[in-house]
Amino acid sequence: MPDFDVIVVGAGNAAHAAAFSAHENGAKRVLILEKAPEEDRGGNTHYSGGLLRIAFEETEDLRPLVPDAEEEISGFFEDVEPYKKTDFMADLMRVTDGKTDQNLANILIDNSYETIKWMKEKAGIPMEPATSLAAIKVGNRIKWQKGAIIRAEHEGVGLSAHWFKNAQKCGIEVRYGAAVVGFVEDSRGGVGGVKVRGPEGLYEVSAGAVVLGCGGFEANPMMRGQYLGAPWDHAKVRGTAYNQGDGLRLALEFGAQPWGQWTGRHSTPISNEWPDFADRERTDKSNRLSYPYGVMLNRKGKRFLDEGEDLGLYTYAKTGAAILEEPGAMAWQIFDQQTVEHLEGRYVTSDPIQADTLDDLIDILDFDDRDAAKQSLRDYNAAAADPGGFDPSRKDGLKTSGLNPEKTNWALPLNKPPFVAYSATGGITFTFGGVKVSESAEVMGVDWRPIPGLFACGEMVGGLFHGNYPGGSGLVSGAVFGKIAGESAAAASQA
Ligand SMILES: Cc1cc2nc3c(=O)[nH]c(=O)nc-3n(C[C@H](O)[C@H](O)[C@H](O)COP(=O)(O)OP(=O)(O)OC[C@H]3O[C@@H](n4cnc5c(N)ncnc54)[C@H](O)[C@@H]3O)c2cc1C
Repeated sequence: MPDFDVIVVGAGNAAHAAAFSAHENGAKRVLILEKAPEEDRGGNTHYSGGLLRIAFEETEDLRPLVPDAEEEISGFFEDVEPYKKTDFMADLMRVTDGKTDQNLANILIDNSYETIKWMKEKAGIPMEPATSLAAIKVGNRIKWQKGAIIRAEHEGVGLSAHWFKNAQKCGIEVRYGAAVVGFVEDSRGGVGGVKVRGPEGLYEVSAGAVVLGCGGFEANPMMRGQYLGAPWDHAKVRGTAYNQGDGLRLALEFGAQPWGQWTGRHSTPISNEWPDFADRERTDKSNRLSYPYGVMLNRKGKRFLDEGEDLGLYTYAKTGAAILEEPGAMAWQIFDQQTVEHLEGRYVTSDPIQADTLDDLIDILDFDDRDAAKQSLRDYNAAAADPGGFDPSRKDGLKTSGLNPEKTNWALPLNKPPFVAYSATGGITFTFGGVKVSESAEVMGVDWRPIPGLFACGEMVGGLFHGNYPGGSGLVSGAVFGKIAGESAAAASQA
């Protein structure tokens, strides 16, 4: 008899969903192996904003998830618009240029609502309206961005803590400092256990099935350089330092099939003042996502993208990359008092650099070419739109005329002092390349057959995201495929 029914590698959202689902589906002995020490546990999930993008037919469907929302935010159920499966699919197709794996996308979207409800009702994960992430205050009403309405209570910190609490309640053992460094091959040519490097040295643990939920390669500069190319080898990491691509490397060496965009990654504009790895206390508060309401200049003093292409949640995942590719891998975000009230709350983790005129502001910022920067702002203001009709909650069509690149929405002139600036660089969040999984979350081999005993979920699943990503999909994908992987692993362990 193997030591465990199911071993889950990793201790983030996907791994916990898998472990809980395996337990729920009859696996009595479930082990979670977490490479990080206890004080650093929980992977990127801990650092996340906890935002959960789900498809729901009617606003009332949200009531079981956030029954008290109306008490906290008056008019909540009136103001939120439904986000149907077709809306989610349209967003996913749009932001990935149609390159999402259609089978995986259907599984994600079809199961998104029920899986999050399962997390709330069965795993006891509390949720709340995602006010500071996806909501914009217009007058005294909140305007919600479609689909991104709910988050885990207390964001990723709360989500992770509740998953660990749930594991404890279910009697799921968690071993910390336990890095999986190899697989134990079984007589079927499949995976019958893992090799672990723990505090006490190397050892093997056998299992009926193994689920990999151990993240991408975002914290590994060599793999970033290899697969993403320059300048990703020196990007700041927005989350855990422990996602070094171990599970992906082991799976590929074992014959797993690579899938999805191995040159792709999620990255966001973050403060350039942030350290190379995020800190556990400030988690995701490095984000600088309100650029649609301002202007971004690179060190040469030039605009380099359409800041107003879409709402931040639909462009942020590619805008980090765009900034990283600029000279010095940084940019300045500049706002005036017309829009400063719309900056998301996370900007408070930096002190704004402020001046009464745009020229004075440029003089105190670090630019290689200040004259060019001043000229860019003059050109922008000359081409900006009439401010009537400005609406920060939707694409308002206020565009510049005659610039390259144009700003296609929210193009108000910068004319209301004081003017403020925040630094930005591109921080890497997670990588898109992964392994191919079946509809049951089995890891597929390069022979297009499932590798017996091996399942994967979370960031390790390749194929869903390409080039860009709709905000709030990572955690839901982790939960959906984690739940499926746990169920499949439980069944495999009982076969
Ligand atoms: C700052 C930030 C904000 C984010 N905000 C959101 C958000 O609001 N909404 C959203 O949907 N997504 C968000 N994301 C993305 C989201 O966090 C990830 O998609 C999700 O957490 C991935 O879950 P996971 O379980 O696959 O991986 P993780 O949560 O990263 O877990 C991986 C686990 O594997 C462990 N591990 C790694 N290697 C080994 C090994 N060899 N042996 C054993 N264990 C190992 C790690 O220590 C970790 O516990 C954010 C990410 C970051 C960094």
